[in-house]
Amino acid sequence: MIPFNAPPVVGTELEYMKAAMGSGKLCGDGGFTRRCQQWMEQHFGSHKVLLTPSCTASLEMAALLLDIKPGDEVIMPSFTFVSTANAFVLRGAKVVFVDVRPDTMNIDETKIEAAITENTRAIVPVHYAGVACEMDTIMALAKKHKLYVVEDAAQGVMSTYKGKALGTIGHIGCFSFHETKNYTAGGEGGATLINDPALIERAEIIREKGTNRSQFFRGQVDKYTWRDIGSSYLMADLQAAYLWGQLEAAELINQRRLQLWHNYYNAFKALATQGRIELPAIPSNCQQNAHMFYIKLNDVEDRTRFISYLKEAEIMAVFHYIPLHACPAGEKYGEFHGEDRYTTKESDRLVRLPLFFNMTDITQRTVINTILSYFA
Ligand SMILES: *Cc1c(COP(=O)(O)O)cnc(C)c1O
Repeated sequence: MIPFNAPPVVGTELEYMKAAMGSGKLCGDGGFTRRCQQWMEQHFGSHKVLLTPSCTASLEMAALLLDIKPGDEVIMPSFTFVSTANAFVLRGAKVVFVDVRPDTMNIDETKIEAAITENTRAIVPVHYAGVACEMDTIMALAKKHKLYVVEDAAQGVMSTYKGKALGTIGHIGCFSFHETKNYTAGGEGGATLINDPALIERAEIIREKGTNRSQFFRGQVDKYTWRDIGSSYLMADLQAAYLWGQLEAAELINQRRLQLWHNYYNAFKALATQGRIELPAIPSNCQQNAHMFYIKLNDVEDRTRFISYLKEAEIMAVFHYIPLHACPAGEKYGEFHGEDRYTTKESDRLVRLPLFFNMTDITQRTVINTILSYFA
């Protein structure tokens, strides 16, 4: 059986986890957490990076930090993971869904302004497949209407838009280190990137159960107390140790994934030219991280046949996201603004192929040959 995904392993993780176990500190904000955070601050160019238990937790932190309240509206695509919406719904906000662009499956930046009302507080672009949303347009809209931008960059670690790292462009960015993402913190993990310096102090307090414990540890105050609402959004240092092994090998992981991505692309170019499938588009100002390789078939029936053919051949290919506005909770907590021209239609056609760091060339050859035989 060829799995859809396998958690990335580079080989140094155990050694670092042993070091963490010997350090006398396994809880959050230990030595490995510090190393990971500093590496990301320098490598990506963010004022403050805070490791969290998941991207879900990072998105929740963002909603708390922006004081999202009942009656507020938050704009995002419907073609995304539930956590993008849940984080804001948990604070009482209404989610306003906007259609995606068919080329990248990202929020259509030209449809956002019409969805803005006096209640709008934030825009949440999701960088699908690690390919950037049109951030210049989104940031200009946010400035004009005095809105915050929270980037859901769960899939975008190591990708750039016009040379800037994804997750560092909006006021806040959220990364995922879940085992299905490009880098993992031993299964689950995330990071919150605070790019607006005015938000840093409160971000640390919210992450430390509403206390100023971070300031206390830095010797800035002589005792720490309850300051604000908050929760526990720290990653255990044992997990940060696993993540450190992966970040050190970030370039290696990225290059391998890109190679696998291009192998697929080249193998299926002819099918795309013949109009049998559609291939993903990477806008010229975006450097992607090969988070995902997907193709689009004609329609949902075509896709179902394709997925079962691969399953017969013991290859797991999967589709993605039932659009949130069509789900029971999406109907209750959200509303689609404007026409659903592409979200449902394009998501019905999309299928993701196995792509993971430890995938061998031979395994990928099997997937490619099976797919070519399906179309033959
Ligand atoms: C994976 C993912 C998340 C959630 O990440 P976790 O770390 O599993 O909480 C959120 N948004 C998007 C777009 C994702 O792909």
